Amino acid sequence: MNYQKYHQVDVVNGEGTRCTLFVSGCEHNCRGCYNQTTLNPNSGHPYTQELEDQIIADLQDTRIKRRGLSLSGGDPLHPANVDTILHLVTRVKSECSGKDIWLWTGYTLSELNEKQKKVIELIDVLIDGKFEQDKKDLNLEWRGSSNQVIHRFKL
Ligand code: SF4
Repeated sequence: MNYQKYHQVDVVNGEGTRCTLFVSGCEHNCRGCYNQTTLNPNSGHPYTQELEDQIIADLQDTRIKRRGLSLSGGDPLHPANVDTILHLVTRVKSECSGKDIWLWTGYTLSELNEKQKKVIELIDVLIDGKFEQDKKDLNLEWRGSSNQVIHRFKL
């Protein structure tokens, strides 16, 4: 998996102060995509064990009260990313007690395959669906267009 950027402290992608990882790779090609540079799975930087350990350490660090991890992109559930994301969310749930996980994907919940569903079983909030320009609404929280759905599984 490649990633575009990692924010150790982020207050705009999900509730509370968060760590946020923007991965590379998305196959949805939404018209009006606001993140075109992230679509190529080979763009950005290689995701490394060091970065994963850094994310876990940041979530465990009590000096900043981080509420959880946000995963965006690109698409964290792109076929090139799903194994690595599953490994990351499994670690967060076992090593970072009390931290929540939010994930943005262009797939809808009903479209997910078995491997993608394993990720969903471990996260707290899913924002799903493609960005649809004719349903764009700047007043929406956490979403770009009104077709996208916020699924709160555990929060
Ligand atoms: S799902 Fe998001 S990143 Fe992917 S093409 Fe659509 S708007 Fe762009």
